[in-house]
Amino acid sequence: MDHAGRRRRAADTVADLGLDALLVTSLVDVRYLSGFTGSNGALLLGADGTATFGTDFRYVEQCGTELPDVPLVVDRRTVPALVHAAVEAAGAARLRLGFEAEHLSVAEHADLALAVPTVDLVATRGVVEDLRRVKDDDEVAALRAACAVGDRALADLLPTLRPGLTERAVGLALDELVRRHGADALGFETIVASGPNGAVPHHQPSDRELVRGDLLTLDFGARLLGYHADMTRTVAIGEPAGWQRDLYDLVARAQRAGREALAPGRLVAELDAAARSVIEAAGYGPQFGHGLGHGVGLEIHEAPLVGPGAAGTLDAGSPVTVEPGVYLPGRGGVRIEDTLVVRDGGAELLTTSSKELLVVG
Ligand code: ZN
Ligand code: ZN
Repeated sequence: MDHAGRRRRAADTVADLGLDALLVTSLVDVRYLSGFTGSNGALLLGADGTATFGTDFRYVEQCGTELPDVPLVVDRRTVPALVHAAVEAAGAARLRLGFEAEHLSVAEHADLALAVPTVDLVATRGVVEDLRRVKDDDEVAALRAACAVGDRALADLLPTLRPGLTERAVGLALDELVRRHGADALGFETIVASGPNGAVPHHQPSDRELVRGDLLTLDFGARLLGYHADMTRTVAIGEPAGWQRDLYDLVARAQRAGREALAPGRLVAELDAAARSVIEAAGYGPQFGHGLGHGVGLEIHEAPLVGPGAAGTLDAGSPVTVEPGVYLPGRGGVRIEDTLVVRDGGAELLTTSSKELLVVG
């Protein structure tokens, strides 16, 4: 769907909320509704679907390319100037203006109320993010391409892994491969956790050297056209011990149960439970202390968040991750993560690297 189509859908919600307009200040939401990729921009979306864009001098040229059909307000004090222009244009005595409560600071809100006293500021939550949950074909294509970059990078990395390499060196090599295979940027800071560090879910690459007998967890992803891939694989450096194989098999079974539970209409909490119950039955419930997954798109973590207490249901066309893990302090851990798209008749797997326990080095 083109950006104007997205703005029309968002405007329907704005009208349903009884607002005259919505001030969009989250850069991700701004990008979704306009195509703008810069670092300072805000969109004022009328309930009738009209839009005005605010930015500063640095981005005027770029706006001509990215959103040629949207009128611009160019001002260093971007948000007050944009709202002021909207008030002038509307000519109404007062304007009911929604703002994104999760993306406007208390100070910005106070400044805006002072600068434009004729608007009634109304807090909204998730208006655009809710629309973003279900991706259109172009978005899924970008995500698919981003995931393929990660698959290729990992395939190149695996034969190079050996004892003696530091986590830092492995992380750098993986980051370079992700860039080399076509990523615009890294989706997030690459996680490289070896041996006992594997017990820390978001361990940062350290100077620890890989040794034979380590499990090595790699959690990484490419960003492409704004879309974020997310994948975790755990591999063995040298022949794994029995407990490591058992732990891996357990997490792999839980991950499969999660993948197979992906279906439109299913409760998000049920999806979490499908994988969690496998780990709980083996007695490792407390060692799986995070949610099963999350939506991915223009943000690495977005709706729907998948956890034990999460509300809501899954939608067809919604990309989510499935990433159970078990973490044993002092010993190590295993996490396996895929990015998939919820579909009728079975989820579409975007991260296709093998989930067999690979022995390398
Ligand atoms: Zn991840
Ligand atoms: Zn993730």
